[in-house]
Amino acid sequence: MQSHRLIKYLALILYLTAFSATSFAQRSAPESIPSPKSVLGFTPGDDRTIAGWSQITDYFERLDRASDRVLVQTLGQSTLKRPMIVAFISARDNILALPKYKEIQQQLADPRKVTQDLQRDRLFANGKTVVAISCSIHSTEIVASQMSMQLAYELATAQDAETREILQNTILLLIPSPNPDGIDIVANWYRKTLGTPYEGREPPELYHHYAGHDDNRDWFMLNLKETQLITRLLWHDWFPQIVYDVHQQGSNGSRFFIPPFYDPPNPNISPVLLRQVGLIGHKVAADLQAAGFKGVLTNALYDTWWHGGFRTAPYFHNSIGILSEAASARLMTPSTVTTEQLARSSTRGMRNATEAMTNFPDPWPAGEWRPRDIMNMEMIAARSILEMASKFRGEYLRNFYELGRENLKQPPNKGDTVAYLIPAGQARDEAVAKLIGSLIDQGVEVFRLDHELHVVLRSQILQRTNPAGEKLGTYKIGGSLSAMQEVPAGSYIVFLTQPQRYNVVALFEPQIYPNRLTPLGEAERPYDVAGWTLPLQMGVDAPAVVTIRETANERKLTLLRDANEVRADLALPLKKGDESPIKNPLKQAVRVGIYKGSVGNMDEGWTRFVFDTFNVPYTSIRDVDMRKGGLNSKFDAVIFPSQAATQIINGNAAGTVPAEYAGGISEAGVKNLKEFVNNGGMLVCFDNACDMAIKEFNLPLRNTLEGVKSSEFYCPGSIVALDVDNKHPIAALLPESLPAYFINSSAFTAAADANVRVIARYAKENVLLSGWLLGEDKLRGQIALTEVGVGKGRVVLFGFRPQHRGQSWATLPFIWNALSSATAATSE
Ligand SMILES: [Zn+2]
Repeated sequence: MQSHRLIKYLALILYLTAFSATSFAQRSAPESIPSPKSVLGFTPGDDRTIAGWSQITDYFERLDRASDRVLVQTLGQSTLKRPMIVAFISARDNILALPKYKEIQQQLADPRKVTQDLQRDRLFANGKTVVAISCSIHSTEIVASQMSMQLAYELATAQDAETREILQNTILLLIPSPNPDGIDIVANWYRKTLGTPYEGREPPELYHHYAGHDDNRDWFMLNLKETQLITRLLWHDWFPQIVYDVHQQGSNGSRFFIPPFYDPPNPNISPVLLRQVGLIGHKVAADLQAAGFKGVLTNALYDTWWHGGFRTAPYFHNSIGILSEAASARLMTPSTVTTEQLARSSTRGMRNATEAMTNFPDPWPAGEWRPRDIMNMEMIAARSILEMASKFRGEYLRNFYELGRENLKQPPNKGDTVAYLIPAGQARDEAVAKLIGSLIDQGVEVFRLDHELHVVLRSQILQRTNPAGEKLGTYKIGGSLSAMQEVPAGSYIVFLTQPQRYNVVALFEPQIYPNRLTPLGEAERPYDVAGWTLPLQMGVDAPAVVTIRETANERKLTLLRDANEVRADLALPLKKGDESPIKNPLKQAVRVGIYKGSVGNMDEGWTRFVFDTFNVPYTSIRDVDMRKGGLNSKFDAVIFPSQAATQIINGNAAGTVPAEYAGGISEAGVKNLKEFVNNGGMLVCFDNACDMAIKEFNLPLRNTLEGVKSSEFYCPGSIVALDVDNKHPIAALLPESLPAYFINSSAFTAAADANVRVIARYAKENVLLSGWLLGEDKLRGQIALTEVGVGKGRVVLFGFRPQHRGQSWATLPFIWNALSSATAATSE
């Protein structure tokens, strides 16, 4: 055994002993460092080749064994039980001393751990810039996962001075994919369809068991195992100064997007971070240009408003988040792009992909586009970022530390928010436990009050006006400005004076999205949702505190270490292992079917996620089952997650997918569904799926937002207020006013004499609670949730998304109440 192997092995044992819960690849005799080609039989990025997850993990294990610059750690298991891995890549000496560098990062991340200037300066002098690179979270954006092997190999073997300098000054956390299940879904599909007419098409299923593309919409809610494991790696253990998330975009626009981002910026991101993002982005763009690549775009399309992505979460941990989006080929098959296609491709910040602009100085001239082009650009980008991380190591460490230190200062003005409270006794214990658990899991400090506190709460009514002073809406959370009041022991408090201050602010405050219109007066679409305020979405009361009577020394508080402490406080069953501990909320056994069509539907996935989380049994109903019929013998209730009627009825068009994936429920399915309801079944539709029920069942309702121009009405992912009739069994025990998630959703009016029972309406005033709502008058007082009798059965229509991304817990009780009453319908 060579001495370096022995030392690394000993260091590993030390590391394992000190930090546990990790496992590493088996150590064995040294070997020469294998190239990806020597292991896979092809070079990653070659046309029509693809490595699945076991090939990727096998390669990284070999690299770990062979190279003293590489150490591979298993983080845990994915949703479908594949290993999640990270490769640490750095100079040999750094790899041997990883625990030391992790300790430095943890001190830099929390300046309260640094008591003297000398200690601080030592951290700056000795620390390394920690960079995380994550590949192919979106599995059809497959090239980066393949690229990861080549990048690791080159860093493990290069001997030039520049690479050595990078390895000396940085520690790379390379995540070959944060969605291993998806890599195999795509790789298996690609191999199966290679050489068929379907080669290069995307698989007709979600590439994450629950979330599909929304696997990158979960970084503050932490519903998914993958997000939980990587959040622990990044924001409990390693606190990278730079996070680079590698994606692909559509095929016909720019060849490569890299920041600076487009407007609007999130107001809770430090301007220093946005400038550093821009600096790194321009370095990448310049290096790509110098290497002869065309079609690089900056300052367009992608914005930093929304909080829950892999590349946006870092800002709320005082780190730099970088995104790149390479133009896609057809999975690993080359594609041809024409000038006409480029000319038709237009987006915010880019008139079209043939026209030179300052932020797009060198359009790509059309032609063949290969996976290799994508991979080469991503390799250059990764290298540029590492070079910056290395050259400006001291600055990155200092900026990171200073942002954390700044956040520890008391808010400057009297009347500023100093904390948020989660008062005891909300009768929403599971939601409270989940909210606090998600906060703790992402490293936010939450304290329990072991003794009462006396506080003044902030007036939480925010008026929103446009620049002309015209009132646009009112955001309201919690009560009005209070006199000094007592908060009981057992409540929870989240202070702003913590390193992650702006994560707290951005999660607890309402989002006030700027009114952005195109020159034609239409709404300019944000990149993702406009509002997400977490306590609101979850129906948890979380007022802001402006004054606390007790001094810091007088307060009796306990810092919570994990979600189970909250569950224990609230006398909820504890979480053990992977099982969700939540008790099935249905009042009796109900046979539930959830429609799962041939077109992958994220809302369907999240519906399953919510049912699994709440341990409510269900069966997925496929198109073929719908066409077959006999639904009453199997189900009391059938749920259609949000999906367009044409997709439900027609499914994938024949010829676009292999025959077994073509077709929808068809007219036969519609007929069987009508029979099901007429015989006493309950049909439940979410958002877009209501359209199908209204038209096919000829219900006396109309979606008032259908066909309305975005200049008149627009609401892209926001929280709105409902007025609830809680005398209706479906709203039993709910408050009269409730927040609901609206994402280009629906609102109904009923025919005058119709036999329709309204359960909730959009509020008569102050509809918007968080996000963006253009044309509030179109929503005011319209029907949001209703029940219509059909034959012996019922149709329940949700205009909004009651289970959006597994986040909108405020409205989940509607679903449980509806299902609890489903057997009553059957037995009538
Ligand atoms: Zn993507």
